[in-house]
Amino acid sequence: MPNHNNTQRNPSVVIIGAGMTGVLLTIKLREAGITDLTILEKTDRLGGTWRENTYPGVACDIPAHMYTYSFEPNPDWSHRFAHGDEIQQYFERVGRKYGVTDSISFNEAVTSSVYKDGKWTVKTSKGRTIVADFVINSTGILHHPAKPEIKGIDSFKGKMFHTAEWDHNVDMHGKKVGIIGTGSTAAQVIPEVAKEAAKMSVFQRTPQWVLPIGNKAITEKEKAKLRKSPVKLQLLREFYNWAISQLLTKAVTGHKVQNWLFSTICKRYMKKAVKDPVLREKLTPNYKVGCKRIVVSNTIIPAMQRDNVNLVTDGIVEINETGIKTADGQQHDLDVLILSTGFNPVAYMRPMELLGKDGLHINEAWENKIQTYRSVCMPGFPNNFLMLGPNSPIGNYSVIEMSEVQTRYIIKLINRWRSNEFDAVEVKHSAVKRFADYMRAGMSKTVWVGGCQSWYLDGDGDPILWPYTFQQWEKEMAEPDMQDFDTVNFPQELVPRKPLKKVSA
Ligand code: NAP
Repeated sequence: MPNHNNTQRNPSVVIIGAGMTGVLLTIKLREAGITDLTILEKTDRLGGTWRENTYPGVACDIPAHMYTYSFEPNPDWSHRFAHGDEIQQYFERVGRKYGVTDSISFNEAVTSSVYKDGKWTVKTSKGRTIVADFVINSTGILHHPAKPEIKGIDSFKGKMFHTAEWDHNVDMHGKKVGIIGTGSTAAQVIPEVAKEAAKMSVFQRTPQWVLPIGNKAITEKEKAKLRKSPVKLQLLREFYNWAISQLLTKAVTGHKVQNWLFSTICKRYMKKAVKDPVLREKLTPNYKVGCKRIVVSNTIIPAMQRDNVNLVTDGIVEINETGIKTADGQQHDLDVLILSTGFNPVAYMRPMELLGKDGLHINEAWENKIQTYRSVCMPGFPNNFLMLGPNSPIGNYSVIEMSEVQTRYIIKLINRWRSNEFDAVEVKHSAVKRFADYMRAGMSKTVWVGGCQSWYLDGDGDPILWPYTFQQWEKEMAEPDMQDFDTVNFPQELVPRKPLKKVSA
């Protein structure tokens, strides 16, 4: 709709969370001229997952040169898969450079967001009340540690912690260390801790496919070349984007040749790299390659073959004061127990109280199924957006690249508000249903429904990922289809439509 009065409003926006997506939103909203921002961060530092995860070996498992904002490439990564502290420093540097850090309200958690007549009332742990036109939940996905419900877990007398809550005061030297879980996190932790521990027991419930890519160090000469040539740096990013989207993404979304390629590499590696046939059998999955997120590592399989590492595949019966008892009746005495048991990925912005139109609570809205429209919009929650929501192309691409696409989509919707097109925008239920049908149709071709359990699946066993190519997603996210939204204009006394900024004709 045209902007009849040639004016633009400047909306107030609350951004919840200052991780990778919160920093990005702040930069891009400001660039678009949306400057009335309140950025709330529950901890004392920005960085999200990279601030929280400090376990030994933490690194990204996609090439670091594509794990940067498109507008802030980094020629200085030390390794192909940059270490966690380096990634944290990158986000802190970007935060400072773009003046984001100074704008964040740290140590201020949101306790509730309540909608009424085009306005959100946000309350915080500091007792503040903020009234805003829009709320964006950029609270991340893998940030609620999932602790296993195992009999006797609280009785353990040694040191016990989740990988996302690493206790750096615990010295592993000469200790008997146990780790529950064998996912991507454990694959990074085990090789590091096994170097120090006297004995390491790995409690595996399900084996993992491993893609043996090494973490190559980037030489000073290579870094200098990238520093000198922004074009080379951009080409490197494009190459990785191409490789991941054309090979890995396609391998897991129903493209036979790519799937054959990854299956062959992973299966051959397992055969060649594990010398002992009994150990090999225990480490070899019986589900399709890619059904669970593939572990990218060339250090985990060698680590599993160290003399001081013991793979335990008998089920855990209980945790007791001194260690773990397994189904074969064996007691595994431990000094330290590491829980590498993953996250609850479907909590999103909860436990925050989020109440939409007519008092609709997010728990009620999502009682039967977590549903969104294009991952970003929720019916019943006007002017409220979710970053990296369900059915984002997570699991097979860079979350930064996809956050940039979602940010552009959100800004396009907010820009329509600025042009006085509406005061509130809410996705239609019919559009959400159509989107869900579209997702279901695509899922049947993916490997995620290939008979394994993973964090990719919701309570009904439906994958929360995007089942098509990244390019298709990008294309469909290019422009909001306004036919899928209900819009409302409120009387002026409720939502003053005072022009704040003159726009040249
Ligand atoms: P995860 O993939 O969900 O793995 C959790 C592990 O814990 C699985 O092996 C699981 O076994 C096991 N487990 C859970 N509950 C258990 C129980 N009660 N008893 C025994 N075993 C239990 O979690 P994650 O390794 O933390 O990785 C999560 C995601 O984080 C990754 O897929 C990745 O997307 C991301 N991540 C990224 C990076 C990176 O880029 N740097 C690094 C690490 C993680 P089952 O397999 O049998 O369920």
